[in-house]
Amino acid sequence: MTKKESGKARRLRFEIFRYNPEDPESEPHMQAFEIDEAPYMSLYIALNQIRETLDPSLQFDFACRSAICGSCGMMVNGRPTLGCRTLTSDLPEVVRLHPLPVFKLIGDLSVDTGTWFREMVEKSEAWIHAKEAFDPQAKEARMDDDLAQAIYEGERCIECGCCVASCGVANVNQNFAGPAGLNRIARFMMDPRDQRSDAEWFEVVSNSDGVFGCLGMMACHDVCPKELPLLEVYAYLRRKTLVAAFAGRS
Ligand code: SF4
Ligand code: SF4
Repeated sequence: MTKKESGKARRLRFEIFRYNPEDPESEPHMQAFEIDEAPYMSLYIALNQIRETLDPSLQFDFACRSAICGSCGMMVNGRPTLGCRTLTSDLPEVVRLHPLPVFKLIGDLSVDTGTWFREMVEKSEAWIHAKEAFDPQAKEARMDDDLAQAIYEGERCIECGCCVASCGVANVNQNFAGPAGLNRIARFMMDPRDQRSDAEWFEVVSNSDGVFGCLGMMACHDVCPKELPLLEVYAYLRRKTLVAAFAGRS
């Protein structure tokens, strides 16, 4: 029962995955901790309280505590989400916490999302590919407002990894660009400053590690804490790749 349903002060039980891959003696297991719930308590506050009062060795990541840094993604009762914006009052008395799958485990709830995102960016060359040399004297190029807004939407991704953890394909295919990767590819594909040809984009995204690997069940869309329009992103990528495919035949 959540606090909103019970209306009473509760004793919360956190069952937390523990494992230190650096320690040969360490075995993966669940460890339980109990604390009293406080008003407006978030998982960020609860985990810090556990670490400060019960077990200083507990590993988890947080930085900004306001859904900007993307560090605190974790599985909360089986669903990937951000610890900082999850209120305990929305959770039952027993909360099971696991690290995000797909990413390399650092220890307990802490994972290395950075390496995954860097590899994804390198593989898709997710940066501006200009044909002309940079001219620092050139006037700033104007961009249509709607297009600038669409690019900004893609840029709102905080690389928390929740969508990647929720994606069945990313869980079994380490080479799949994943929802965050497809979002990043689309962001550069729609940017007029990136002058890659349709054929070059086709190579990047038109395969089973790209947009055709996506099964379209939209688990990623449901869990994205920034509510990125991933559905529209995949539709855009599919449209663009079809256009590129037909252009290549003519
Ligand atoms: S819609 Fe595609 S990218 Fe999103 S979770 Fe499903 S398979 Fe993964
Ligand atoms: S698309 Fe959303 S869920 Fe995925 S990494 Fe970016 S912010 Fe996180």
